[in-house]
Amino acid sequence: MLAVAAGFLFGQMTLPSESVEQKPTNFDFLYVDSTQPEPEPAVIQKPDPLPNFPLDEADSLFVIVNKQRPLDPIDYTPETVVVESEFLDNSREIELAPIAAEAMIEMGKAAVDEGIGKLKLNSGFRSFEYQSELFIAKIEQYGEAEALERSAKAGHSEHQTGLAIDVSKPSEGCEIMQCFGNTEAGIWVSENAWRFGYIVRYELDQTPITGYTYEPWHLRFVGKELAEEYHQGEYKTLEEFWGLPAAADYLVSLE
Ligand SMILES: [Zn+2]
Repeated sequence: MLAVAAGFLFGQMTLPSESVEQKPTNFDFLYVDSTQPEPEPAVIQKPDPLPNFPLDEADSLFVIVNKQRPLDPIDYTPETVVVESEFLDNSREIELAPIAAEAMIEMGKAAVDEGIGKLKLNSGFRSFEYQSELFIAKIEQYGEAEALERSAKAGHSEHQTGLAIDVSKPSEGCEIMQCFGNTEAGIWVSENAWRFGYIVRYELDQTPITGYTYEPWHLRFVGKELAEEYHQGEYKTLEEFWGLPAAADYLVSLE
């Protein structure tokens, strides 16, 4: 976070204009033509992470959770609501943080309005305890090495924040599979989720940074302002967006 804060401040620094006007006139040839307008200083457009964008607080809309950034407290439980909408297949009674639920309902309605059809909500909020069971099940299914890239240890999952959701469109196949990214619904999600404050969190070929294989179905709510900036900046990971270290592996072994 410090690196981002420093980058943000440094990005706004400009040379005082007097430094150009006070140069010795006999040596004009040494200087760039000062009659030309100076180029705009490079200002890093991303928002100041402090204090409006806390990345460390579990209940922050902007919290960054990855293999190096467990939730604090590790068994954090957010306030959640069941996501209910006639525009979504919410047969699984998925829960999300209220603000993320509202945005998902808006996105579901847009998907229907724009001809994609109903998105299915496969997984939303997952508790610390449930994530522990899920991770153990993944190890049994895939072995530990692959499980580590497919699932998170408890306390390290975005799903525990109530801000992450897995979506699908079962009638197009590829339910919670990488080929979802090539379906009509998957393409629509990847191109439009930002309009509703969501981003595709684990994009193709970003495993060395995110620690996870491609998950075109896993969306993270970050709010519309940030999602728009992320989209316009063509970012692929939140780690790069905020200037955080890559998180391919767990910081401390929890074995
Ligand atoms: Zn997920």
